[in-house]
Order: sequence, then C-alpha cells, then structure tokens
Amino acid sequence: MYSLPEISIDCPYCGESISILIDASCGSQEYYEDCSVCCSPILLVIAVDALGELSGIEARRDDAC
Ligand SMILES: [Zn+2]
Repeated sequence: MYSLPEISIDCPYCGESISILIDASCGSQEYYEDCSVCCSPILLVIAVDALGELSGIEARRDDAC
C-alpha cells in the first residue's frame, strides 16, 4: 500500500504554511496548487529520485520576475 506523504510548504505569496499531498509515484513533476489561505496559484516543482523517493520540493510564485 502506498501512502502519500504530506508536506508543509510556505506559500510564496502570503507566507502561510500549508500542507499538500505529494504523489511521488508519478515521478518528477510541476503543477499548480492553490494556496488554501490566499487562493493564489503556487507552482510546485517536485523532484523524485531514481528510487521513487521524494528528493526535493520547491514552491514558486507564478508571477516571479
Ligand atoms: Zn497563500
């Protein structure tokens, strides 16, 4: 049985800590998750290593320049 790890990240917009579920079985991926506090679209960059383990997660603003 596979359980999704729950990760806490800091929202890059409002700075609040939010919990997200990562499905590492899909490999490295990028997707948007709306902040549950300010509803802004957070770009999540998920890195998964060759063993299928979560190796890194980054939360970015969509409007960074
Ligand atoms: Zn937020």
